[in-house]
Formats: sequence, C-alpha cells, structure tokens
Amino acid sequence: MSLANGRRYLAIPGPSVMPDRVLQAMQQAAPNIYTGPLIDLTASLIPDLKTVAGTKHRAAIYIANGHGIWEAALSNTLSRGDKVLVLATGRFGIGWGEMAAAVGIQTEVLDFGLHSTLDLDRVKAALIADTAHEIKAITTVHVDTSTSFRNDIKALREAIDATGHPALLMVDCIASLGCDEFQMDAWGVDVMISASQKGLMTPPGIGFVFYNPKAEEARAKVDVVSKYWDWTPRGNPQEYYEYFGGTAPTHHLFALREALNMLVHEEGLANVYRRHATLAKAIWAALDAWGVGSSIEMNVKDPALRSHAVTSVKIEAPLGTALRDYLSENLGVTLGIGLGMAAGGTPEWHGYFRIGHMGHVNAHMVLGTLACIDAGLKALDIPHGDGALDAATRVIAQA
Ligand SMILES: *Cc1c(COP(=O)(O)O)cnc(C)c1O
Repeated sequence: MSLANGRRYLAIPGPSVMPDRVLQAMQQAAPNIYTGPLIDLTASLIPDLKTVAGTKHRAAIYIANGHGIWEAALSNTLSRGDKVLVLATGRFGIGWGEMAAAVGIQTEVLDFGLHSTLDLDRVKAALIADTAHEIKAITTVHVDTSTSFRNDIKALREAIDATGHPALLMVDCIASLGCDEFQMDAWGVDVMISASQKGLMTPPGIGFVFYNPKAEEARAKVDVVSKYWDWTPRGNPQEYYEYFGGTAPTHHLFALREALNMLVHEEGLANVYRRHATLAKAIWAALDAWGVGSSIEMNVKDPALRSHAVTSVKIEAPLGTALRDYLSENLGVTLGIGLGMAAGGTPEWHGYFRIGHMGHVNAHMVLGTLACIDAGLKALDIPHGDGALDAATRVIAQA
C-alpha cells in the first residue's frame, strides 16, 4: 500500500530542501528596484557570500543556474583559442570542459574516471610538459555530484605551485558550498563558482563567481567579454542595476538573505559543516551495513574522499531504479538517479542511486530516508546486510 501521503521529501542532490523561512521570505509583493530596502539587502549579501567562500576578494551574482555560471567564469578569463586543462572526477568536471570547448577554448582533459580522485602526479606531469605555458587555466570541481568524490583543492594548489606553472585555478563548488568547508583564499583558488540551489538552500536561478586579483588580471587580457557576462560591473557596481546587468532577481535575493541568516549568523558555518559531516557518517554507516554480503556499495571507498553533501551508490541493476520507484511511490521519499555512472538507456543505468544530504537537512530527515531505504530493500526482497539503522543511530547518538 502507499504510505506516501504526508510531507514528501526530495533527497536528491539539488534542488535541495528549502527551509520554510526561506520560502516565507519570498512571500511578498515585488519591491522597488531603484530605491528602498532591496538596495541595502543586496549589498548585505556580498560579505556573507564571501564568508561562506572563504575569500576577501570580489563576488559577482548572476541570474543563471550552474551551467550559466560555468560559462560566466570561462568568458571572463579565457579567449577563443586559449587552452584550459580540465581535471575531471565525474560528469560535472567533464561538463565544464565541454562548455569551454563549445565556445572555442582548447581543452586538454585529464579524466580520472568515475572511481578516483585527482591524481596529482598526472596533473604535475601535464603542467611540466607545458613549457610554453599555453595552459591559461585549470578547471576542476570540489565535489563532483555524480561520483560524490570530494577533491583536495589545497593539495591541488600545492601540486600546481610545485611546478611553477602560472595557470589560473578555477574550482566548481556548486555541490559543496555551505556543506563542506571551502577556503578560497587560503587554498590559493583564483576563481570559484557556485549556485543557489544546493547547500545555500535557495531556489535554483542565481549563481556566483568569486574572483581574486590574479583572475582580474586575466580578465583584462581577454579579447571579447560579452557585456552581460562581464563580471567587472557586477563585482564592483557603481549603480544598483549593475549588480545584475538589469532587473534584480528580487525574490531570490529575499530567499538568499534568509538562508545566509540561518547559515552564517545563526547556526554558524563551523556547526553547519559539522552537521553535514555527522549526517554523512550516519548514511555511510548504514550503507556499510547494507553492503555486507550484497551488491550495495558506495562509489567512493575512502571516507576522506567522500562529499558530505551527496553519496553515490551502486547496486545490482535494475535494483537502483526499482528502489527509487518504490520509495517515491510508496514511502514519500525521492532518491537521486545515478548521474553519469552509466549511459542512459542501458541496463547498467538502473544500477545506481544517489542520496542528497545537502543544505536544510537534519537527523530525522536522514534517519527517515535511511529507514525508508531499509523498508524498500525488505519490500523488494533485495539482498542486504543487517543492522543499518542501528549503525546509523549509533553515529547520531555519539555525535
Ligand atoms: C548541480 C551542479 C552543476 C550544475 O548546476 P545546474 O544549476 O544544474 O546548471 C554543476 N556542477 C556541480 C558540481 C553541480 O553539483
């Protein structure tokens, strides 16, 4: 029978659950965009966004999803014909590189596959081989949402510096910002991008580019930057409309203000990161238990390399799809599909699922999801090890 009625829960890795306070903040009439409170509210977002990013440099806001922000970062730093070194540990790393290739940037792709983090020796070798310094920028992801690898960006910067190569380091934090600690300045990142709908608990539709003085120097050398994508007026607006190159995304700004109040000013980022880490450990403990003597396994074996915001899981095909369908039809929980792990339309595609645990997520939401997965495994007679819920609640109890 269906037990799905009640508050439904979307446990996919973005869009994430929006807090009621964030939803309520949008429940108001359109504000004036020329004078009045919106002007100060917008200015107040910038220091808080920089705090989350770990930077004292500039931030630009765009009305775009993550794909748009990928393009924004590329178009301010690279000219057609320039070369970028693309470091991929999953679908999203590859995707940013495809975006670069589509606008005429040459891409050298180091694809570390779906089961590995960055191999820094290969990165160093590629940079050392580039004696003419044709590589102008390196793109990578902090957390790849498809594989759920969390790459060590500080170590990447150290590896780049060890070669003396001057390329810009550009990092996608769309799935990690506000979930896993990120320190843009301390880790030597030149350009960092993110978007609103994951750890930042705000509807999809706005995104962010953070850039340092070295990136501004690169911007000055780019031959053509379209007026709309140019980060210069957005990051340093003389008039209010320049923040957005036109009408402000008014209600997204109300939502983001409330979300940043919660993350930065109330819970505090250190606690936000601890909450995500602990909830992730509860999920991994359950998966370890289910995996004993079964086909269930996490994609990332080393806990130190796992995202605290999303967990990618393999299970014998077609049981991933069967489990997802059962949970959403009967139990009111929707799990994520396995993105980029197997080609769509193949039997293997049905052998994956992901659990999103980013943003406005607490113990009861995670334990409820795990209990629903446990019920689904039983209902569908899917072989699995025992004791998953016990293992997860022990993690929570010891936190
Ligand atoms: C979600 C995501 C994107 C794409 O964002 P869209 O808003 O769907 O365009 C890019 N990179 C990463 C790491 C993501 O998690």
